[in-house]
Amino acid sequence: MQGSVARICTSFIDIPGRIAVVVYLAGCSIRCKGCQNPALWDSRNGTLMSVEEVLQKIEEHPLADSVVFLGGEPTDQIEFLTALCQKVKKVSGKDIMLYTGREFENLPESLVEHMHIIVCGPFREDLLTQSWPASSNQRIFRKKDGSWQH
Ligand code: SF4
Repeated sequence: MQGSVARICTSFIDIPGRIAVVVYLAGCSIRCKGCQNPALWDSRNGTLMSVEEVLQKIEEHPLADSVVFLGGEPTDQIEFLTALCQKVKKVSGKDIMLYTGREFENLPESLVEHMHIIVCGPFREDLLTQSWPASSNQRIFRKKDGSWQH
């Protein structure tokens, strides 16, 4: 299985206070007004990579304690994203975070079960926050002791 991946890099801002590996998936069908990554709306702006190739790139960031999926809209590649999360959880043990324009209640459990943090809902540029690279209307869910809190 392959997915369209635009960039994999280290981030100090996508989970405030933590070092993360960030995986930008290309392609977005949601298209929020004021999106900060419109170049990633088109899935052709990524490179096709296998789950194993992405995992290998993630493993090149040993200082990172977490993996963040954003884009683009990661859930537009739901099968690839789910397979990737399964592998990350099994192999690396790093926490997994998702930025998505979709609402938490619309995400499949087969994906959510692998996550530790989810920022969800459509981005609004007029509500941009300072603390997270998100807007204040977007909800932040954290898994604690097996249940979700926000
Ligand atoms: S879902 Fe994300 S990538 Fe898509 S338009 Fe909204 S902010 Fe941009």
